[in-house]
Amino acid sequence: MSNIYENIKPFIELVEKSNNIVLAGHISPDGDAISSCFAFCSALRKMNKNPIVLLEDYGNSYEYIKNDNMIYREDYNNIKDVDLFISLDCGDIKRLGFAKEIFEKAKYTVNIDHHISNDNFGKLNIVNPKASSTSEIMFEIINHMGKLDLNIATYIYTGIVFDTGGFKHNCTTNRTHQIAGELISLGVDSVKIHSNVLTLHSLESSKLLARSIQNIYIENDIIVSTLSNDEIVSLGCSHKNTGNIIQYLLDTKGINVSVFIYEKEDGSIKVSFRSKTIDVNKIASYFGGGGHILAAGATLKDMTIQQAKEVVLQKIRSV
Ligand code: 5GP
Ligand code: MN
Repeated sequence: MSNIYENIKPFIELVEKSNNIVLAGHISPDGDAISSCFAFCSALRKMNKNPIVLLEDYGNSYEYIKNDNMIYREDYNNIKDVDLFISLDCGDIKRLGFAKEIFEKAKYTVNIDHHISNDNFGKLNIVNPKASSTSEIMFEIINHMGKLDLNIATYIYTGIVFDTGGFKHNCTTNRTHQIAGELISLGVDSVKIHSNVLTLHSLESSKLLARSIQNIYIENDIIVSTLSNDEIVSLGCSHKNTGNIIQYLLDTKGINVSVFIYEKEDGSIKVSFRSKTIDVNKIASYFGGGGHILAAGATLKDMTIQQAKEVVLQKIRSV
């Protein structure tokens, strides 16, 4: 492909001729998935389309991101005659979770994403692993459509700040900074967004961070921590309060790879990987997950936390 964004034009044509449009982000939605959905939903509302957003409940961790009643909370069986389904920030179709069924019934599907593991599962695919975030790709599209405004800019800036860790991660490029500058020119309150996205946290997330620090295991330059569902529940917390732990672990002096493992309510085991140099997308993909080279994840089934820790460590030791 000569130009990574050559599909933007056919995509906009598709949007123009569609009316019932469904947008969805990945399971356990994060700041980029949520912001991408809201940004594009807002643009579609400006075009008098009929968009809805499908997102799993994300608890209060992202309540600072304005929702504007965009998330569909009625009976999903009532979602019919979908002209266009747009998947945002999902590396593969499984990441759509409950929304996969609606994706499969839609007349046309588009996959917009920035994960290196993306398998181009849409009929039309706009996938750029060099983009810092799906929100950055949303900027390119919405800017092309001439629909940017302060509200949309605020969503996009939020998604970019989240996925780049405040322009710190190596996915941050010259283009990311240019876009951030343009968004600030539109009036985005960057100080407030940085604080909300990166530093402000709940007491619950502090309690889980504290417990996860007690559970640290270190082997050479690998750090692992775990939280069982019982530990999470007995502290009066939810797995949605674990988002800040993995980066904290990676920031430990002398550490190159961090792994954070927690048990979900249904007994499945969620594993997050971060690294300073090694390709953790490969490791996560080995376990059926995916992501980026330095940040990836997977969900393991039918094993205990201890077993998950052992198999994951074995795999990391072997690379
Ligand atoms: P996290 O560890 O924060 O859940 O995820 C890190 C990155 O890997 C994110 O970009 C996320 O979208 C991606 N990721 C996490 N879990 C999975 C998974 O099970 N499959 C795929 N394809 N990507 C994942
Ligand atoms: Mn993302």
